[in-house]
Amino acid sequence: MAKNEGSSRRKHQPVAEVSRRDACKMGFAAVVTAARGDALGGLAAPATDQDTVRYPKSMNGKPHIAVVGAGAFGGWTALYLLRGGAQVTLFDAWGPGNSRAASGGETRVMRGAYGPNQPYTKMAARAMELWKEHEARWKQKFFHSIGVLWMVEGDGEFERGSLPMLKDAGIPFEQLAAGELTRRWRQINFEKVEWGIWEPHSGYLLARASTQAVVEHFVAEGGEYRQQAVLAAGLEAGDWRALPLSDGSKLLANRYVFACGPWLGKLFPQTVGPHFISTKQDVFFFGTPPGDYRYDEGNLPVWADHSDHFIYGIPGNQNRGFKLADDTRGPEFDPTSGQRLVDNDRLAEARRYLAYRFPGMKDAPLVETRVCQYENTADHNFIVDRHPANANLWIVGGGSGHGFKHGPALGEMTARLVLKDEPAEAAYRLARFEAQKANP
Ligand SMILES: Cc1cc2nc3c(=O)[nH]c(=O)nc-3n(C[C@H](O)[C@H](O)[C@H](O)COP(=O)(O)OP(=O)(O)OC[C@H]3O[C@@H](n4cnc5c(N)ncnc54)[C@H](O)[C@@H]3O)c2cc1C
Repeated sequence: MAKNEGSSRRKHQPVAEVSRRDACKMGFAAVVTAARGDALGGLAAPATDQDTVRYPKSMNGKPHIAVVGAGAFGGWTALYLLRGGAQVTLFDAWGPGNSRAASGGETRVMRGAYGPNQPYTKMAARAMELWKEHEARWKQKFFHSIGVLWMVEGDGEFERGSLPMLKDAGIPFEQLAAGELTRRWRQINFEKVEWGIWEPHSGYLLARASTQAVVEHFVAEGGEYRQQAVLAAGLEAGDWRALPLSDGSKLLANRYVFACGPWLGKLFPQTVGPHFISTKQDVFFFGTPPGDYRYDEGNLPVWADHSDHFIYGIPGNQNRGFKLADDTRGPEFDPTSGQRLVDNDRLAEARRYLAYRFPGMKDAPLVETRVCQYENTADHNFIVDRHPANANLWIVGGGSGHGFKHGPALGEMTARLVLKDEPAEAAYRLARFEAQKANP
């Protein structure tokens, strides 16, 4: 147990809470404003040595947990912490699904195939259940199960390794021979594609819309959301106690969860920084031909092509055009100050691929672009662990370009670990990075 784990009798002020009834009455935007305006009233006095770390109860008898970052990881974690019985304050510097966040943008792929020997197919299966459960509960639609098609050229080690994992996780799939692929999707040029995996129940998720909805429902269920930045200074120190906020004040909670996506490397330069890189990823949206619906959802599934490198796309949906992206990691990118302009070479490569694989889209105009950033860990596995110098501080992130779909399952797992004080799962621990360096 770290030196700052002990007990204390020091009481702190309760934070300003927006009640469920108020949230419903006021609507989300108003609640944000109210929470912002009330921020000073909710702040605890600066921490002292007697500040506690081990679940002293807040004035309402619940442990108070501060979650920093309202993206897919932080938002769902905050919601499950709240439902698990904590008093939760969720912070975001620019708002859930903002234009800099990894969870911003229109859509994300929801798939089960992940190659051999990994925890993500099972996590995706659980996430699919939870996405559907929440859609029914909230009467909102985020998960569009239009199917995912994997096109396999050559060896297909990734895809072959995915098959037993899909079966084990109970995610429906079919293996399709080349002839069957051509029969089903005539608008695709399957040259060199030897076989495919068809996941009929997988599909795509609405990214920004669902990220914002999670926070709306978190507030409606009794959570507090504040649009405010947490300062980076001193977070790595072992004697750290209260959360330093951008208005100069501090918030004392019993536990802190940092789910800051691509910002984690900078917030924790010693613990996360050396094992983490934020990379620029260009995303292209092409306009489908007028009156030709072969490239829209309903006629085309989400697709992934592992030929040369990993290229994937989402058919026309939400009237936004046909999305195409290359999973190859781009150059390092600063999520705060980076200019979000796509690279001309990447656009040329996207056009070349589009004309080859989807010949009917050869002259399709570029209708939108987006620059997002992947939040890559060294091994592309997530981080869900306590800070080594502060057992009350959890670091959650490292989605590495594939985290969004897992949001609800990851949030459910993280909330359980934090609330029950359970050890982090080995695959997501920080210590693995040093072990990997020692045994490459
Ligand atoms: C182009 C692209 C395509 C992708 N495709 C897929 C896909 O198809 N399927 C899939 O599953 N995943 C995909 N991903 C990955 C997925 O989007 C991310 O893994 C996931 O969204 C990460 O969520 P997060 O909550 O960790 O980070 P974020 O969404 O970035 O959230 C972090 C939040 O922290 C806030 N924050 C940062 N610093 C502070 C601070 N100091 N104080 C307060 N708030 C702060 C930010 O404002 C931000 O809102 C893709 C990512 C990109 C970029």
